[in-house]
Amino acid sequence: MQRGQGPIAQLVEQPAHNRSVPGSRPGGPIVRALKGIGTVRDQFRLLIALQQADDCLRALALKEQQLPQRLQAYEAACAAVRQQLVQQQAAIEQSERQQRVFERELAHHQEAIRKTQSKAHEVKTNKEYSAILAEIDTGKQRLETLEDQLLTLMEVTDQQRQAHRAYEQQEHVAQQALVEQRHQLQQEHETLRRTIVAEQERRRQTVAGLEVKIYEQYQKVTTQHGGRGVAQLQDGVCSECHLKVPPQMISEIRLQTQVFPCPHCRLMLLWPAYDDRTKGIR
Ligand SMILES: [Zn+2]
Repeated sequence: MQRGQGPIAQLVEQPAHNRSVPGSRPGGPIVRALKGIGTVRDQFRLLIALQQADDCLRALALKEQQLPQRLQAYEAACAAVRQQLVQQQAAIEQSERQQRVFERELAHHQEAIRKTQSKAHEVKTNKEYSAILAEIDTGKQRLETLEDQLLTLMEVTDQQRQAHRAYEQQEHVAQQALVEQRHQLQQEHETLRRTIVAEQERRRQTVAGLEVKIYEQYQKVTTQHGGRGVAQLQDGVCSECHLKVPPQMISEIRLQTQVFPCPHCRLMLLWPAYDDRTKGIR
């Protein structure tokens, strides 16, 4: 590979073997000798800062995207208790209908007994009288059974109404929790938005300090590598793919005059920065 070759070709093509003749190197530099704004090391520091800003922005975007999910459990709780309320209301209405049926039957039987009793005065024979007494007796028994059933039903309805009130209370609590959670998420979202805007501004300033050529290269590499553009040499190993870098390339990277791609993962491989701002990078 010749020194004059463009950076793109050097990024995607690797030489078949590492030749030690002058002017050739494994992978070759992505960006040649740097000049212009600030020192080369400043450029590298900015590159690392840019990667950090992008990592941070990606994490913030994910957090923002996941915020609404935290409402789901609260909405589900409200919906569940509302469903219980609807079912309980239906059960109460059913019981009340049944109660009215029993009441009509009761009135009907009471009327029947009253009529039978009034007939008792008109009977002429003992046999007829006994029959009427028996009829009244049967009627009264049926009346008692109906009254028992009605009482049981009224107790059940009472319990259903109590349960309904309890569900109403639960619904109120669930609604309140939902409102509170929504309010909290709104506040979190506003804070998150402010953080994102500040981070975007920091990124913009970082980019402003970077040479266009380097920034374009960074953009290209991050697009191809899922947002990762920069790796650092750590004990002769790439911090991204953890593979060994050839010694010849290490000594060139150490010079910090050119940007080389990692021969394995193709990220922009930089000499480690020990600046306080950037040492947090992997
Ligand atoms: Zn690598």
